[in-house]
Amino acid sequence: MNKLEYVEDEKDFLSNPRIVENYSLLQDIGVFQHIDSLNREIRNYKNLFAGALEIFNRTTIEEIMDAAVVQISDHFLPAFMVFLWKPLQNKEDIVIKSYKNYKLTDLSLKIESITPFESFFRKYPKPITYDLLSFEMGDSHAVKPMDALRPELIIPILGPSGLYGMILVGRKILEDDYNGAELVYLQQLMAFVSQAVQNHLHYDRTLRDVKTGLFNNGFFMTRLNEEIARAQRTDSSSSIIIMDVDKFKNFNDNYGHLAGDRVLECLAVTIKQGVRTEDVPSRFGGEEFTVLLPDSDEEAAWVVAERLRIMVSEMQVPWDPPLPKVTISLGVFTFSRATELSSEEIIHHADEALYLSKEQGRNRTTAWGSGLMSKIARSK
Ligand code: GH3
Ligand code: MG
Ligand code: MG
Repeated sequence: MNKLEYVEDEKDFLSNPRIVENYSLLQDIGVFQHIDSLNREIRNYKNLFAGALEIFNRTTIEEIMDAAVVQISDHFLPAFMVFLWKPLQNKEDIVIKSYKNYKLTDLSLKIESITPFESFFRKYPKPITYDLLSFEMGDSHAVKPMDALRPELIIPILGPSGLYGMILVGRKILEDDYNGAELVYLQQLMAFVSQAVQNHLHYDRTLRDVKTGLFNNGFFMTRLNEEIARAQRTDSSSSIIIMDVDKFKNFNDNYGHLAGDRVLECLAVTIKQGVRTEDVPSRFGGEEFTVLLPDSDEEAAWVVAERLRIMVSEMQVPWDPPLPKVTISLGVFTFSRATELSSEEIIHHADEALYLSKEQGRNRTTAWGSGLMSKIARSK
């Protein structure tokens, strides 16, 4: 029903002779007041629904947060809003984004994990005031870092695998406390935000390898195919690097599988640090990793591969007792419009280069193609 129809309906209602006849009576018993309050409620629900649509239409968590901040600022101005979430299911690491005056600001919130809140929110899966949360969780260390901020509301982001994150909303600036209706609005809107963030985290987790948090093989292949298609349309060159841990079977045999797992986790962090944000570092399987480097020719890919090789050879894996250093061997393949190869063939070539690195003594990089032998000499 649009606004015009609605006003006309109200006119019809008020021009009804029986209403006119009983106008004073209806007024006395508060019918009009009741209608007003129902109209207000309808308007609020319409706003909420429009806001929810805005939020669900966003495609990244950052955009969801921005949309939520804009929606809320149409109603009132919270002193701050903090979004924190756990990007990976089996890791404690969290991401914290805080807003003040609608802008991303670092509020130096010292929360390191959301795990201490997990059992509470599983039992009580609703927005809760800070005071009540502090009371319910006792004098837990978990709540302490929030003391300085004293948020008004804490909204859990919950999903099938538990607590994914939390949203903290500050008190209103320059005004009184939130009134009942505002609190209800905040809780309802944030329930949508929480759902949207949860959907997004679920999606993101399907692209990643559980052990290392790098992209998985499936996502790597999708991106590789996209990059091949882009190379057909443009004049750019892109590259892939395949790397494999040297003598890793021996390592596992000597130091145990758990130590080996820790090495793979550290390797993933090192690889992520050694590449650009637009690159796609992935765990290809087992102890093999790949990186897709869009817009990178052979020279550029070679530099990255060598950087990764050296970073890994210097990597210190925290473990008790200390572990020896590990090395990796790498293969590089560069493709462009002229290459005309499928993703499988591209990987196969990079694999051949990697194989040569192994054959030549390991801990080295080989680029597939012409000049191969001189590259091998350079990596020695
Ligand atoms: P090379 O230098 O020729 O690559 O020798 P390698 O021993 O690394 O090669 P091989 O392919 O024979 O062995 C790979 C080993 O990697 C065997 C397997 O135990 C180990 N590995 C694969 N995935 C994992 C994992 O997730 N965790 C651990 N700890 N080890 C793994
Ligand atoms: Mg291997
Ligand atoms: Mg190996």
